[in-house]
Amino acid sequence: MTGTEAKNLFRALADTFETQKGRLGELDAAVGDGDHGVGMARGFARARDAAESADDTDVGQVFTSAGRAFMAGAGGASGPIFGLLLIELGKPVVGKDALSLDLLKLGVGNAVAAVTRIGKVEPRDKTMLDALLPASEALQRAGTLEDGLARAAAAAARGVEKTAEMEAKKGRARYVEGKGVGHVDPGAASLALFFETLCANYRASS
Ligand code: ADP
Ligand code: MG
Repeated sequence: MTGTEAKNLFRALADTFETQKGRLGELDAAVGDGDHGVGMARGFARARDAAESADDTDVGQVFTSAGRAFMAGAGGASGPIFGLLLIELGKPVVGKDALSLDLLKLGVGNAVAAVTRIGKVEPRDKTMLDALLPASEALQRAGTLEDGLARAAAAAARGVEKTAEMEAKKGRARYVEGKGVGHVDPGAASLALFFETLCANYRASS
């Protein structure tokens, strides 16, 4: 994936989250305060604009610029964490003209470690980590970038479904009656949407 393709990806992500912000807001309203969709849509709109003005010969710069803008713009508990994810994806490819499967594996693996550390979360706390970790594990087994994105998207979606049975240990859902059991985690749903969009966009452009 080149820098130009990454810019195109951030346009697609901004469109996806703008379209899905109502649904993500409803998921958050069931277990939190309902702002998750609006925050994600705002974050990706800012990320798209920052990506647009980044140097497209450096795919890492496109991701890290987008990640910093996301962090500043999205808000909520999920804003800094998703921003961090984008920055970690970009770091291994700073100064490079394309994102390869091996560097994506490295970036996603680093993102798992960073989210765990900064968010102070563990698997089964009912957060976006419960979609990110299976996505990373599935990706590590892939042989091509397209295969990796498809596996990551499918694994993340399965991870989202499993969050419905978990009791929340982090975030606002921990304070609602039943600790969110019976409802999927909105941050995990966003994470799955992220990989789904990466996969669809990559397939359409290659
Ligand atoms: P807020 O809870 O501030 O309203 P959002 O609604 O934007 O934030 O995001 C909620 C999502 O953030 C949750 O669904 C969960 O996936 C994620 N989240 C909350 N706390 C953490 C944390 N400490 N580490 C990782 N993710 C978290
Ligand atoms: Mg919220």
